[in-house]
Amino acid sequence: MQLERPTGKCRRWPRGRGATESVRTDLPSCRCGTDRTRREATPERDYTFMGTVYALWGGTPIPSQVSFRCVRCGVVFDTRRDLATRRAFII
Ligand SMILES: [Zn+2]
Repeated sequence: MQLERPTGKCRRWPRGRGATESVRTDLPSCRCGTDRTRREATPERDYTFMGTVYALWGGTPIPSQVSFRCVRCGVVFDTRRDLATRRAFII
């Protein structure tokens, strides 16, 4: 499945006047303005080999990193490795 069209452009959110939900954050975002707090961001969990083994044993491993992909443009725009974020994305 190809998510990113070579000629397609992500639409930018209008900036400035009348922006209703532009809470300014310094979170990384993709070119269409999705940051990881938005619903358009899908988290992708990566596990270490040991984490996978642990999961097969029925445990709930903490992901080794969590990446956030925009469903609009298919770009991974943020990758977190800090423990707080990883704990938040335990399945
Ligand atoms: Zn995007």
